[in-house]
Amino acid sequence: ATKTAKHDVVVIGGGPGGYVAAIKAAQLGFNTACIEKRGALGGTCLNVGCIPSKALLNNSHLFHQVKHEASKRGIDISGDVKPNLGNLMKAKETAVKQLTGGIEMLFKKNGVTYYKGNGSFVDEHQVKVDPIDGSEDSILTANNIIIATGSEPSPFPGIEIDQEKIVDSTGALSLKEIPKRLAIIGGGIIGLEMGSVWSRLGSEVTVLEFQKAIGGAGMDAEVSKATQKFLSKQGLKFQLGAKVVSAVKNSNGEVDIEFEDTKSGKIEKIQADVLLVAVGRRPYSSNLNAEKIGLDFDKRNRVVIDSEYKTKFSHIQCIGDVTFGPMLAHKAEEEGIAAVEYIKTGHGHVNYANIPAVMYSHPEVAWVGKNEEELKEAGIKYKTGKFPFIANSRAKTNMDTEGFVKFIADAETQRVLGVHIIGPNAGEMIAEAGLAIEYGASCEDIYRTCHAHPTLSEAFKEAAMAVFDKPVNF
Ligand code: FAD
Repeated sequence: ATKTAKHDVVVIGGGPGGYVAAIKAAQLGFNTACIEKRGALGGTCLNVGCIPSKALLNNSHLFHQVKHEASKRGIDISGDVKPNLGNLMKAKETAVKQLTGGIEMLFKKNGVTYYKGNGSFVDEHQVKVDPIDGSEDSILTANNIIIATGSEPSPFPGIEIDQEKIVDSTGALSLKEIPKRLAIIGGGIIGLEMGSVWSRLGSEVTVLEFQKAIGGAGMDAEVSKATQKFLSKQGLKFQLGAKVVSAVKNSNGEVDIEFEDTKSGKIEKIQADVLLVAVGRRPYSSNLNAEKIGLDFDKRNRVVIDSEYKTKFSHIQCIGDVTFGPMLAHKAEEEGIAAVEYIKTGHGHVNYANIPAVMYSHPEVAWVGKNEEELKEAGIKYKTGKFPFIANSRAKTNMDTEGFVKFIADAETQRVLGVHIIGPNAGEMIAEAGLAIEYGASCEDIYRTCHAHPTLSEAFKEAAMAVFDKPVNF
């Protein structure tokens, strides 16, 4: 038998894009349903992405600090300081469980109907739900449908993921032992975050990156160099310009990796106990039966949409990782709100020029707006201003002085065009830069705003001042 139901809005996918869209739609008065096949809400981000990685990053950082810095910070610890992987993973799982469960409660509170199953198109107005518990299907009829099916790790041709010896980001969040040697293909944010975690816990980490710089698209070249420097100081090894040719498990349970050094043309070999393949993510739309209704996809398999998130059908929208733009949770959330607002009012707003990016290493690396390379290419005249955390009083008291704040501003008006930070809490501080850009602030506006003392934010203020004058404390 098949059940039927009618909804104003049906959202397919319960990640940061989909669950936010569903709650907002319900808040705006729509009879809303959200279909999620994972068995838990929150998508990649809460289950196998942002949240578990940050739990591991935070606690591995604490471990590292206690082990290597406690004494100089005035804390004597008797006996050896050891990682407890079981508890580290438990803490991660607790955070994930509480947060995914929290969304389920928010669905109840806001009256969103939650279908646990796979959603697929029957036709342009009907979506079939195959419940994960094997119970009877439902056919949902909807006025509006929002596709938010997200992304999955990109495979590396010829390398087979077994999630034990050769893992993707999901496996790297749940290793059962601390590998002695961890090799990582890909020096983007996910690779470097995971590399930081396992390096702090004791792994020898080698990052193989095809490009000449780490950090991936958008990272300012000066910041990328400085990031590689501080990560190297922490013990991560880098092979840039490394074109991986093959990776296979050998009979000793190790992974043999071959890569070509693109500079010398030589083939090099390394061995690792675990290999992490972190070469990016690709849009996910399998089992959606999108072919049935003839949705358009681009060459990279992203669902084609217009500026109002509409596919070729004006009542079917698409948001988040499965369509254009940076694959970031906060970008998906913004789009979820905007898409629903378009349905309700015909207006929505996401400022794609002002989407922050954060790498949660220690120190953190964060940026928003343009970098120097982009401005040069666009022929825009700019000035930069920098302030190092070594000259910031709070960073000094915290014994945490690595990094700097770098402003890039219009040469004539000093309007903020981009801010790039390496520093403790850079991911929090970048929100101030986002506000400045959103409101069209000049560097002087920021400098003339009183910042509390002693805070790291004073470095932000003084970097703004460095654009048009001299900072006081450096
Ligand atoms: P997803 O989160 O992928 O959610 C899509 C959901 O749809 C999934 O749960 C899937 O099961 C479900 N689904 C798919 N097809 C169907 C179907 N047919 N029927 C029913 N359900 C379906 N981003 C950040 O901004 N900050 C970070 O710190 C960060 N860290 C990350 C760390 C890692 C290790 C990884 C892998 C990613 C990280 N990201 C981070 C990226 C972030 O997770 C994604 O950008 C975000 O989850 C995208 O949200 P989404 O809603 O578009 O898709």
